[in-house]
Amino acid sequence: MDQNAALPVLRLRKGKEESLERFHPWVFSGAVLELPEEVREGDLVRVITFGGDNVGVGHYQIGSIAVRMLEFGEEHLPADFFWQRIGEAWKLREALGLIRPDNNCFRLVHGEGDFLPGLVVDIYDGTAVVQAHSPGMHFCRMEIAEALTRLPGIRSVYYKSDTTLPFKADLHPVNDYIAGSFRSSVATENGLQFNIDWLRGQKTGFFVDQRDNRRLLEQLASGREVLNMFCYTGGFSVYALRGGAKRVDSVDSSGKAIALTDANVELNFPGCDRHRSFATDAFKYLDDMKPGEYDLIILDPPAFAKHRGALKNGLMGYRRLNAKAFEKIRKGGILFTFSCSQVVTKEMFRLQVFSAAAQSRRKVRILHQLTQPADHPVNIYHPEGEYLKGLVLYVE
Ligand code: SAH
Repeated sequence: MDQNAALPVLRLRKGKEESLERFHPWVFSGAVLELPEEVREGDLVRVITFGGDNVGVGHYQIGSIAVRMLEFGEEHLPADFFWQRIGEAWKLREALGLIRPDNNCFRLVHGEGDFLPGLVVDIYDGTAVVQAHSPGMHFCRMEIAEALTRLPGIRSVYYKSDTTLPFKADLHPVNDYIAGSFRSSVATENGLQFNIDWLRGQKTGFFVDQRDNRRLLEQLASGREVLNMFCYTGGFSVYALRGGAKRVDSVDSSGKAIALTDANVELNFPGCDRHRSFATDAFKYLDDMKPGEYDLIILDPPAFAKHRGALKNGLMGYRRLNAKAFEKIRKGGILFTFSCSQVVTKEMFRLQVFSAAAQSRRKVRILHQLTQPADHPVNIYHPEGEYLKGLVLYVE
C-alpha cells in the first residue's frame, strides 16, 4: 500500500454521513454522490461528506454496500495497516486465553468485529485459513498473508475464495496455499482433536463459533442419550462423548459430513461403541424416530433465512423444526436449539421457539441463552455482526 499516494475521493450525498459519524462501517450505494470514473471494484477510496469534510478510508465495491470502511478520520492507511490490525486481533485472542497447547483452533479475524470488514481468518494449528468477503480484501490477500506469517506458530496460509463474490475481469477465484507449505489438518479445541478439511469443507472447514456452546453441552451430557442434528464435523458429538453421554447419534444430510464426524469420533475415542451416525434428512429423522428416544437434542441447522427476502419462510422453518423436537424429546430432556441466520433477531428466534413449545403443550424452561464466542466479537457500532443465537431448554 503506498501511503503517500492520494486516494480517489468519494463524495456523499447531503446528510448521508450520519451513520458514519456513529462509526457504522458501511456506505450504502444510495449515499454516494460522486466517484471518479477510474475507480475499480476493490480500490481504496477516501470518503468525504457533501461539504468536503474527511470521513475516512475504505474499500469500494459495486452493490448495495458501496464502501466498507477500514479507518475513520484518516486520509490514507498506514503502510503496515494489516500487520497492525492482525497483531491487535492476535493480542485479543491471547488475552482471552484462546491460544494454548490444548486449544490451537480459533477465529483470529471476524470482519467488522475486528475492524477489518470483509475479512475472516480462522486458525487451525499452524495454518491460517483466509476468506475475503469483499473484492478489496480479495486483492489484499498477499499483504494479509504476509502479516499472518509474522505471527508466532503460523506456518502457512490457505486462501479460500468466497464463491458469492462477483468474480469477473481481474477478480479471479483463488483456492490455494498463498504462503508456507505446512499441511497438518488436525487442530485441537479444548483438548479435543478435529480433522479440518479447509479445501473441501464448508466455510473455512469448521464451525469455530460453537466452541463455548459445545463446552456447555459437555457439562450437561453425562448419562444422557444424545441426538446431534445437523452434526457437520461432529463437534457437539465429540464433546457429548467426553462429557459421559450414554449414547450419541449424529445426523446430517451430507454423506461427507457424516464421514468427517465418524473420523473425528474415531480420532478422539478409538473403537467407541457409544456413537452412531446417519446420513439423512433432519426433518425425516425427527418424524420417524420414536418419542422419548433421546433426552438431549441439539438442533444447529444451516441459516434458514440467508437474506431478508427469505425471512418469513426461514422463521417457519425454525418453528417446524423445533416443534418436532418438542414433540419427541423425553420428559426431563434438554434441548439445545440454534439459529445462525443474521437477519433473524434474538427476539424473532425466541418467538418461533415459543410458538413451537406452546404447540406441544409441554412445560418448557429456558436454562441458558447462548450466542457467539468472544473470538467472534461484535463491533458495537455494527450490530449486524451479531448472528448466532441459541437457547438451552428444559422440557418436561
Ligand atoms: N452443528 C455443526 C454445524 C452445522 S452446519 C457444528 O457444530 O459444526 C449445518 C449442517 O446441516 C451441514 O453440515 C449440512 O450438511 C446440514 N444440513 C443441511 N440441511 C440438512 C437437512 N435438511 N437435514 C440434515 N442435515 C442438513
